[in-house]
Amino acid sequence: MTAEGALRADIVEVGRRMYARGYTASNDGNISVRLGHDRLLMTPKSVCKGFMTPDMMCITDLEGRKLQGDRDPSSEMLMHLEVYRQRQDVQAVVHAHPPIATGFAVAGIPLTRPVLAEVLTTLGSIPIAEYATPSTSELPQAVRKYIKAHDGMLLANHGALTVGGDLLAAYYKMETIEHFAKISLVARLLGRENLIAREEVARLQALRGTYGITAPAPICEDPPPAGQDATCQVVDAPAGGGLRLVPDLLDAPFGEVSPKLAAQVDKAAPKPMAKAGGEEIRLTYRELSSLIEEAIRNLR
Ligand SMILES: [Zn+2]
Repeated sequence: MTAEGALRADIVEVGRRMYARGYTASNDGNISVRLGHDRLLMTPKSVCKGFMTPDMMCITDLEGRKLQGDRDPSSEMLMHLEVYRQRQDVQAVVHAHPPIATGFAVAGIPLTRPVLAEVLTTLGSIPIAEYATPSTSELPQAVRKYIKAHDGMLLANHGALTVGGDLLAAYYKMETIEHFAKISLVARLLGRENLIAREEVARLQALRGTYGITAPAPICEDPPPAGQDATCQVVDAPAGGGLRLVPDLLDAPFGEVSPKLAAQVDKAAPKPMAKAGGEEIRLTYRELSSLIEEAIRNLR
């Protein structure tokens, strides 16, 4: 098989796995790989990634002009092109909507807490790129802010994006993000997360070199200035003071919202607008139900 034939087969296989694991539904998601130094091999628009065949792929140049293929390239091509422009080291780009990671992206909760050693040594942290209308040039702009420092990120109210030195590496990062999101969700439901202390995070970062893991950027020592493109990875690690794990209680028995989370939600929630001259009233569900029942009785 030619090198191009092997890459076409790899894209089919990764698409099949993404669909089988529920990372995409219907025609969601897209995959691309570099084909030599000036061309890309990319999944086409409007096909289910679980049922692709090698002949379906498009070949484009780095400006997105189609060079070969019966179908049009992915509707998220602009995002892929931006990644290849910003990162010469990247050979493959994977985009999907894995449901738990995407849930975090919808909730606006980045995966930046130091919880799992393997995630810290490989991906570091997973930020959320600002909301952008899918398939428009807004999306590459949102991705640009983080792509120099991260191999994986969430896309607000949309999904996740991963990149790698080859297609399998990019795909495995997508698996890692969804797995990390799943574990984080369970820990949060259980009401506590023990966080890896800053000193231990530094030790784990040093292991990257030992294991030959190439991360695009180091973990930030200080919080980076707001509004600028990321040049390091933000990890919300507390000082350990001798401890390697720092308990962070969410103070909630299973199934209840912790006061800490409730306060956050309350802060973020939009305030009801009072009409001019009107006053806000609050009713319990039971009071509201009986008012409705009474109104219905009066109608009869
Ligand atoms: Zn998408």
